[in-house]
Amino acid sequence: MSDKNGEGHHGSFRDKLTTVSDDGKRVWIYPKKPKGKFYNYRKVFSFFLLLIFFIGHFISYKGDPIFLFDVLERKFIIFGAIFWPQDFHLLVLSLITFIVFIILFTVVYGRLWCGWGCPQTVFMEFFFRQVEYIIEGDYNKQKKLDRQNWNFEKIWKKTLKQVIFYLMAFAIAFTSAAYVFSLDTLTSYFADSSSHISFITGLLIFAGAIYFIFAFFREQVCTIACPYGRLQGTLLDNKSMIVAYDYIRGEPRGKHNPLKSKEKLSNGDCIDCKSCVVVCPTGIDIRNGTQLECINCTACVDACDAVMDRINKPRGLIRLDSEKGITEHKHKLWNTRTIAYSIVLVILLGVVSTMMFMRTDFETTILRQRGTLFQKYGENSYSNIYEVELVNKTRKTHYVDIKLLNPEGEIIMMSDELVAEKGEISKTKFLVVLKTSQITSPNIILTFGLYTDDKLINKYQVTFISPRKLE
Ligand code: SF4
Ligand code: SF4
Repeated sequence: MSDKNGEGHHGSFRDKLTTVSDDGKRVWIYPKKPKGKFYNYRKVFSFFLLLIFFIGHFISYKGDPIFLFDVLERKFIIFGAIFWPQDFHLLVLSLITFIVFIILFTVVYGRLWCGWGCPQTVFMEFFFRQVEYIIEGDYNKQKKLDRQNWNFEKIWKKTLKQVIFYLMAFAIAFTSAAYVFSLDTLTSYFADSSSHISFITGLLIFAGAIYFIFAFFREQVCTIACPYGRLQGTLLDNKSMIVAYDYIRGEPRGKHNPLKSKEKLSNGDCIDCKSCVVVCPTGIDIRNGTQLECINCTACVDACDAVMDRINKPRGLIRLDSEKGITEHKHKLWNTRTIAYSIVLVILLGVVSTMMFMRTDFETTILRQRGTLFQKYGENSYSNIYEVELVNKTRKTHYVDIKLLNPEGEIIMMSDELVAEKGEISKTKFLVVLKTSQITSPNIILTFGLYTDDKLINKYQVTFISPRKLE
C-alpha cells in the first residue's frame, strides 16, 4: 500500500489507522489491481453473487417474487416460501441460527466472509473498483491522475467515473427496493411518478448514500463502521484460520539478490518487496500480524505467491493458516469452542427445520365469544356463540366450510361465509346448536373440521357449555 504522500506505515501500525494521517486527515488508499488464483476464485464467486442480487427480483414463482423482504407488511418470501407475520417466530429463530453460523464460521475461518461474501467488499472490489480501473487505470495511474492539475483528461475521467458510480449506486438502490416493495410496485410507482414524488426522492437519496459509501467512504466501512469487524478480537483465537504471514519462514526479511546467493542465505524468504502491501485494499502490512483492518481478501496471498514463483521459493509465505499452524506447522480445525458452537448450531438447525416442516398453510383458533355463556334455543336445544379466526398462509383466497364433527349438532353462521383471504387473518362468528339429547354434561368437547374444496385443512376442539340442569 502506498498513500497519497507515498509514505509507508512501518512501526506505527498499532497506534493509528493506516487510513488516517498524523494530522488526522484521511489517507486515500490506492490498491494495486490483484492478480492470481484466489483473485480469480473471488471474481467468479462475486460475479455469481452479483448475478443473484441483480436478477433475483425478476424471478417469480406462482405469481410472487422468489425473494421479498417486505418489512413494512412483515411479509417475507425466501426461495418462494412465504412467511407471514404469524411466522415471525420462525424468522427470529432463523436469524439466531444465522448469527450462530456466522460466529462459528468466524471462529473457524476468520473473516473470510468479509473478503469474499460481504456486499460491501463485493460491490467495492468487483463492481465499483472495476469501473475505476477501466477509467483511471491501475493504482499508479490513479495516483498520478489525482496529483496532476485539473486538465481536460482529469476532468473527463473524474466526471465520467462519478456519473457512472452514481448510476451504479442507483441500480443497487433500485434493486434493494425491489426486494422490499416488489418490482411490480416499483414499476407502477415510476409509471405514475407524479403521485410518488416522495418515494422516488427517497430512493434517489438512498442511491446518494450508496454512492457516497463506494465513491468516498470505501474501506472505512470495514475499519471504522462495521460492528462485525469490531467483534473479531473476541471471536478469533490462535487456532482460527486467518490470512497470515509466516514470520518464521519470512524473517529476517531482506532484499533478494540472485547473484549473491550466500548473502541471501542469511535472510528469510521475505524479500521486502512490499507487493503484499500495495495490493491491500485496507492499506495494511500483513507482515505486522493479524490486524483489525484485515478483511481476509487474500489479495496479499496472490501477490506474495507471484513473488515466490519469481524467486523460486515455495508459495505460501503469506497463506490461509492459523497462528498455531504457523508456529507448529499443523492446523487443527476442531477444538472445544468449535465443537460447542457446532452442537448449538446443529440443535438450532434441527429446531428451525422441524418448525418449518411442521408449518401448516392454515392456522385456526375457535373460542367461545367472550362474555357469553349459553342460550336456550327453541324448545329442546341450547346454543353457544363462537368466534373463529383463520390465518391463510397460502397464495390463494379460500372459501372455508366449518363442520361440526362431534357430537351431532347444527352450525348457524352469524355473518357471511368464511372467506380466508391470502396472507390475511379472517374472522367470523357462528352459533352451535345442540339438542338436549346430545348434551351429556355441562361442559362437553366439540370437534370442528374446517374444509376448503371438501378438503380438511384444520381440526379444532373447544368446549360447549350448558346449564347443570337442562330444561
Ligand atoms: S510480497 Fe511476500 S516477499 Fe514481498 S514483502 Fe510481502 S511477504 Fe515479503
Ligand atoms: S492484509 Fe491481505 S488479506 Fe488482509 S485485507 Fe490486506 S490484502 Fe486483504
